[in-house]
Amino acid sequence: MENKKTYPCETCPMRAKHDKNPKSLAGKFWRWHINFCPGWKAYFTSRSEEEKAALREKYNFHKY
Ligand code: SF4
Repeated sequence: MENKKTYPCETCPMRAKHDKNPKSLAGKFWRWHINFCPGWKAYFTSRSEEEKAALREKYNFHKY
């Protein structure tokens, strides 16, 4: 069966703030927190390789 689990990170308001304005305080805070946030890790590592590549590029994120 396909895994339909959804993650709050998909609709995270902090992430939306970052995407709207990465230089805002909230945006910077969000970007910083994904370096160690277990929730983001679970979300990120559940993505397809294609999606991971897009997220790495979009957020300059190369941890996993
Ligand atoms: S883990 Fe981080 S990115 Fe995901 S929903 Fe929570 S605050 Fe947002």
